[in-house]
Amino acid sequence: MVAFNTAIAFCGETYYTGNRILRADDILNQHEAPVNRERARFYRHPKPGFGTMRERDGDRMTRDFTLEKYSELLRALEVNYRIMGVADYLTSPKDEEFIAVLRHDVDKFPDRAARMALLEKNLGVRSTYYFRWNPKPGNFPKQEILETLRYGHEVGYHYENLSELRDKEKALADFKDKLAVLRKLAPVRTVAMHGAPRVRVRNADMLEGVDLSKYGLLGEPHISPEFADIVYVTDSGRKWTSGAGSVRDTLGKPVEEKVKNTDELIGLVKARKYPRVMVSAGPGGWKG
Ligand SMILES: [Zn+2]
Repeated sequence: MVAFNTAIAFCGETYYTGNRILRADDILNQHEAPVNRERARFYRHPKPGFGTMRERDGDRMTRDFTLEKYSELLRALEVNYRIMGVADYLTSPKDEEFIAVLRHDVDKFPDRAARMALLEKNLGVRSTYYFRWNPKPGNFPKQEILETLRYGHEVGYHYENLSELRDKEKALADFKDKLAVLRKLAPVRTVAMHGAPRVRVRNADMLEGVDLSKYGLLGEPHISPEFADIVYVTDSGRKWTSGAGSVRDTLGKPVEEKVKNTDELIGLVKARKYPRVMVSAGPGGWKG
């Protein structure tokens, strides 16, 4: 792992079987102005109270799953945990007691991911965004990926090759091809499976027993042993679930409490009951 990072840091790029991984700075230098000016303007003048811990009269009625509520959650995490992305968790020393790994599976609406990425950047948070291949135009959402990278976040691949192709060998070949395409836009070092609804295929099965370093990867949260003991909460369908939420979404351990809404999750964060947590927040479900 250390040698891998050193190669990135000193050579500007590193090689593994087949492809090379470019540095984020080198990628961003190749592309002009990936920052969305309209979005940047909007967040330079946020509405009053946005992104602050300020309690207002009548705030009890605040809707859940808004970006304002999300920024409250981030503030609580920042005060009580060290927040980091998935690759950083795999490579940094775990000497701090309270660590929150923050991850986003971008299922739909990549534009909302870029908005969340900017919000997090403005709050001084770095996390991981997993982007999906879009089969219709046959590409990844380039603009949003470059923006996310520009804001300092990790970008990874939200893969679903096995549920698409139903054949491990074909799926792995497809995975490798798409990973190479995504690596033209970001230095991908971790991947996370997509749990395809209505399909009882666990995409991570494609990578079970596979040497991820052959793909230039550090890990996959659903497989890597570093995440087996982490407490996991995810917001699928605008509901917080925890631990092994479904047949497909298996990762880590559940919280003991039932988390009915984001305020209750914020309460748990403030109580610091669980020293190691992974929070997965799908950007598509949070309204601005
Ligand atoms: Zn997904």
